[in-house]
Parts: sequence; structure tokens; C-alpha cells
Amino acid sequence: MKILIVEDEPKTGDYLRQGLREAGFVVELATDGIDGLHHALEGDHDLVILDVMLPGMDGWQVLKSLRERGREVPVLFLTARDQVDDRVRGLELGADDYLVKPFSFSELLARVRTILRRGRTGIEVTTLKVADLELDLLRRRVTRAGRRIDLTAKEFGLLELLMRRQGEVLPRSLIASQVWDMNFDSDTNVIEVAIRRLRAKMDEGFESRLLQTVRGMGYVLELPESR
Ligand code: CA
Repeated sequence: MKILIVEDEPKTGDYLRQGLREAGFVVELATDGIDGLHHALEGDHDLVILDVMLPGMDGWQVLKSLRERGREVPVLFLTARDQVDDRVRGLELGADDYLVKPFSFSELLARVRTILRRGRTGIEVTTLKVADLELDLLRRRVTRAGRRIDLTAKEFGLLELLMRRQGEVLPRSLIASQVWDMNFDSDTNVIEVAIRRLRAKMDEGFESRLLQTVRGMGYVLELPESR
């Protein structure tokens, strides 16, 4: 999943970017409001983490412009000012949540995951299921037929994407941008390698193969008989 951070304070921005990357997210960082708005309008982010006090254009204006242009991407506000007025204003403008600085990274990560579980529908999804494969978004755990499967953060991100869009053939280019933050033209087999590893963990030794390659098109997660 892809997150845009708009934060002008280099230390906070770098810290958030690194932490979220380690948690398996694809992260973009913009350091002023105008650049942030531009990125948010151009990109396909699942969440925007938006500082309020920003050079160029403040966080309120960025959010307002996004909503005026019909962009429903969830927004988590970061604010150093903890006055009630600010919180109310942010939520009225269409923010999904806010966090008062200073905050711990674990708190931010918990908020981020809660917002992402709710997605754009507002209905919180905590478990993704395909046949006997289950991905628990709260505990960050995957099981197949009740058996625990240990995944790296990237493998988890890859599986989450495939499960969220189950039955849909996902092109490598989409997987590359959503899970690795790279263009598919880059000369690498990182996706093939990750798919192979994931498949070995979740499909080998089980009755049916859920992760399928659609030649020349990409990958799909579904029961074989449904295609
Ligand atoms: Ca700031």
C-alpha cells in the first residue's frame, strides 16, 4: 500500500518515511504544501499523512483542495497544536483522523492501519479471506487451513494487495508501484522472486494452488476452478 507524507520538518519526515518503509509500505515524501498537493493529485495513494503547518500552502488548504477536486483519499493530520478548534476544523474539512505532535511511531502506525482497514468505504475490514487462506490485518498474521504462515513485511504487503483484489489479474507494473515503489521497466526480477517465495510458503503442501500466474498478464489470487 502506498502512503504520501507531507511534512516540512526533515527529521520527522525521514523518521516517518523510514519507519513506514520498514513496516512494508511504499512511501513518498513531499516537503511543502504545494508539492504535497501535486503529489496527492497525481498519485494513487491509499493514505496521505498531512502536517498542518507547511510552507507554501498549509495542511488545511491542501485537504480542502483535494476534497474540492473530488479526491477521497483518506487523510491523517499531524498537528503540533492540540486545540479542540483545530481538530474540529480538520475533521470538518474531511480528515479521517489526527495525531498531536509529539507522538510515538507505534501510535502513528496503529492509526495508519486502522484508517487503511476502513478504506474508502468507511467499513472496517479486519480479515481478508480466499478459500482457506486468511490474512488478519489486526494481528498481521496469515494462516492457511489454520496453519500459521510466516511472511516478511514485503511478502505480507504483496499478499494483502492480491487478497484485496482477489479474482483480478494484477499486472506486474501495478504490483511494482504498489509494493516496491518502482517502475516495471527497471531491469529486475524482484517481483518474480517474491511471488515464488510467497507461493512456496502459502501454496506448497496444500490441496489447491491459489496464487496463479496468468501468462503475459500478471498474477491472480483465487481458487483455480473459478477461472
Ligand atoms: Ca510543519
